[in-house]
Amino acid sequence: MKCRGEIIEVENKMAEMDVDQLDNSDRADSPATGLSAYDDRGHGHSFVKKTFHKPTYCHHCTDMLWGLIGQGLVCEVCNFVVHEKCLRTVVSACSSIAASLVRNPVAHCWSEPGQFKRKFCNVCRKRLEDSLAVRCEICEYYAHLDCHDFVVSDCKECAIYSPTITRASVVHYHHWREGNLPANSKCLACKKTCWSSECLAGMRCEWCGLTAHASCHRLLPAECNFGSLREIMLPSSCLSMPRMDLSVETMMGMSKKTSPNFTVTDRSARTISEDWSSSGDSRNDDTEERERRSPRERDTKDRDKDTESEIIRVFDGNASMKRRLYRTISVPKNAPAQAILEAALKTFHISDDPKNYYVAEASEFGERELDESKPIRAQLKTPDGKRPSIFLRYKESDPDKGHIKVYPGCLKVSSGHKNITVTSESTTEDIIRTALKKFGIDVHDSDPSRYRLIEVLLDKGVSERTLAHNDKPWELIKNCRKESLRQNQMTRYYLQQREDPHGPSISLFVGNLPTGLSQRQYEKILLDIVGKQNKWVRFDVIYYEYGALVLDFSSADKATRVFNILKDAVFDDKQLLVLLLPNIQPHMIPENTNPLLVFVNVKSGGCQGLNLITSFRKLLNPHQVFNLENGGPLPGLYVFRNVPYYKILACGGDGTVGWVLSCLDNVGQDAICQSPPLSILPLGTGNDLARVLRWGPGYTGGEDPLSYLRDVIDAEDIKLDRWTVIFHPNEKEQDDVKVAIANDTNSANTNEDTTTIFVMNNYFGIGIDADISLDFHQAREEKPDKFNSRLHNKKVYVQMSLRKMVNKHPCKELHRCIKLEVDGKLVELPPCEGIIILNILSWGSGANPWGPEKEDQFQKPTHYDGNLEVVGITGVVHMAQIHSGLRTGIRVAQGGHLRITLLTDLPVQVDGEPWIQPAGQVVVLRSALKATMLKKSKNKIRRRNTEPSIFFPENDGLKAQSPSDENSSGAL
Ligand SMILES: [Zn+2]
Ligand SMILES: [Zn+2]
Ligand SMILES: [Zn+2]
Ligand SMILES: [Zn+2]
Ligand SMILES: [Zn+2]
Ligand SMILES: [Zn+2]
Repeated sequence: MKCRGEIIEVENKMAEMDVDQLDNSDRADSPATGLSAYDDRGHGHSFVKKTFHKPTYCHHCTDMLWGLIGQGLVCEVCNFVVHEKCLRTVVSACSSIAASLVRNPVAHCWSEPGQFKRKFCNVCRKRLEDSLAVRCEICEYYAHLDCHDFVVSDCKECAIYSPTITRASVVHYHHWREGNLPANSKCLACKKTCWSSECLAGMRCEWCGLTAHASCHRLLPAECNFGSLREIMLPSSCLSMPRMDLSVETMMGMSKKTSPNFTVTDRSARTISEDWSSSGDSRNDDTEERERRSPRERDTKDRDKDTESEIIRVFDGNASMKRRLYRTISVPKNAPAQAILEAALKTFHISDDPKNYYVAEASEFGERELDESKPIRAQLKTPDGKRPSIFLRYKESDPDKGHIKVYPGCLKVSSGHKNITVTSESTTEDIIRTALKKFGIDVHDSDPSRYRLIEVLLDKGVSERTLAHNDKPWELIKNCRKESLRQNQMTRYYLQQREDPHGPSISLFVGNLPTGLSQRQYEKILLDIVGKQNKWVRFDVIYYEYGALVLDFSSADKATRVFNILKDAVFDDKQLLVLLLPNIQPHMIPENTNPLLVFVNVKSGGCQGLNLITSFRKLLNPHQVFNLENGGPLPGLYVFRNVPYYKILACGGDGTVGWVLSCLDNVGQDAICQSPPLSILPLGTGNDLARVLRWGPGYTGGEDPLSYLRDVIDAEDIKLDRWTVIFHPNEKEQDDVKVAIANDTNSANTNEDTTTIFVMNNYFGIGIDADISLDFHQAREEKPDKFNSRLHNKKVYVQMSLRKMVNKHPCKELHRCIKLEVDGKLVELPPCEGIIILNILSWGSGANPWGPEKEDQFQKPTHYDGNLEVVGITGVVHMAQIHSGLRTGIRVAQGGHLRITLLTDLPVQVDGEPWIQPAGQVVVLRSALKATMLKKSKNKIRRRNTEPSIFFPENDGLKAQSPSDENSSGAL
């Protein structure tokens, strides 16, 4: 386990050089001639002295640089700015070597390109400001689109379970990320401020939120306990994700409209000859040039224009030349070729010894090596004023022999990577044997065919490829170097067991199929789409009412193929849905942990929903967070089916809560946890249930998602009565329309053709309030994508009913149109136009028609006492008065079993969903279905720390000291 949790391993790959030599370097200000100052402490920066002309801050200690000249140093590759006095303690790795420090590369989950305010780029350390940038949806990593090629693939490891680890042996470590700390973050080690609004500075753990200075973070214990969210965190050691050839974005169920690479691939259109013949100063060319230069170079460009400088295009290999992917450097015209070489290495973030490289001019006359000692301009064939192109090349010292680094991956060995000598004759199998020996794994004992060598490209998307046993890797490496040096640098070799630690079973969730078919019919539909050769091992489960099922596969290749076929497949004009699901290992869940399953209905809250998904994925394990747009609550409930105890957070309206509860009713029988307590983050309007449970009228976007999660931890379990409403129309009334309702199995179960059954959580209304709901309903039907309606399929029916009702007052004298029996006794109704039957004491967005406690024959109602309250409303005016709190409804009855006879067709609503119900019987009785809800705790004394960062319950001495602590707990 240790091998997986530990993130970095320092390599002394830099040539040794005394830092003091820097002080003698006066050539510092020109970017291309700076001394390559390699450092032996492993941070890898190429520092040069610099005089800053505007206020600048030290990225190490966050203080300002003072003095008029030569105040500090800056790294020529990554723009790290540092005081001279701080130089000796720098620990932040340069982006030129950061990738090589990553032990287990994990691809980030990239957002669409966009603009992110007040954030800094983790590659070039500059502000993102108005440039297009991407961010990781799982961790706090930001990069300019221009810097995207140089991102470090060190995202959070979210699913690391393997059968070799046990709960007792698991140690989780902090996952440090530099910069973009929440405002006012304090260093846990020295208690001083460690965030900065001026530069990329400070460290933050991606799991527990702990913050510290870069210089202080190594003093803190390495073990991470997930901070204040650990009671609801699903640790990565409890999860495994099959090893499949799919992007993280795909695995997280994020649909990508455009690839962030589009800016790069679009440029491949121009031919080389066009490029060479074009004038280097043409306007079109110039704008493209700007795009591809790193922001650091962009800053200096205008200044360069005035001086005698030259802009050169650098290609790092044949493949880049073919695709016209180059980076530009700016150097003085009389600079020696050696300086070009160093600048070229830096622009590609290659931190190797320059002696292993050379530069060659790439012109229409072919490729010609340049003499390192002579000035570049004199050697170039490209005419003055035109932009020269050069190749950066690797010098093969021995074309037949070299060595490769092999990493142990998740093998149980304590050592890091091993250098293995390879010749042009070595096969993959030879390398596996040598590596096994070097890692101390007995070769006789273990058959090399049980292992495989994997080539991993630590690109922005981390891709891997298994080498065939008779491949000759040295030839592959040499070819790769010719094609792209950068890609070669980013390639690694891992020794891995052939079996996937995830195990043989891979589950694909398939949704959007027709509902209510037989297993055989589903089988036929899917086989027709994916083909017989790709048949799954078994159906793990079929949700007939939802048209969804889970397919199990034993081979990752087959599962990948099926995934790719199904994601583009359409059946019955519906785009099928396919999701790859992680496996939870319940025995690995720590004691006292009740992982939180988060559902977000993005349709309820507009863009707030999307922001919440990103926030929760960052705060928790991203595999705990499900977007209801992808198959509703079923995929999440399926993933958690074996977890003995967990909680749910439903972000959405009351309709979303009802949706989650009804899915729980359906899958509950198969799940180990029968009734997980459910909390609500109310989105949109209405939210009566959320109000009653103290979660508030609606999320406005201003509240901190972290504090919501803490409230969920502190919330108390409370029962919610649920009610079955059975509508049984009189037989003669039956017509096509009613058959249509009966067939709508989404929300109602049918036993006889004409009887429909609903589960009611909040309230049930007959008459005027349902009538008005219908008006709203019609409005929402006009903009259906804005609403998430359980009765969506009844659209046609509702519209027909509306037409029928024009100019008709159905609710006048309602008391004459219905008969009400409560617990077997006929109740006399007062003159009214509507009655409401309440389970919770909030209706129509927070109104209370029952009213406050008073002396009468009724008991004080609750939503768990097994009783319903019936109130009457005399008309529209009365209803408006109830809404504004001026009056209450007329108390009619209280009881646990209601029978209502509708003498005519009447508008009704269940939990705010209205329709016209034909005359007949309606029975409301207590449902056997249970729901446990979470009620937000009133008691704020337990409210601990409003610091956005951290809380250590078992060590109060370490608690981040914030003066606002007492104030905030008192204020609320
Ligand atoms: Zn400093
Ligand atoms: Zn650097
Ligand atoms: Zn950048
Ligand atoms: Zn990430
Ligand atoms: Zn941590
Ligand atoms: Zn500190």
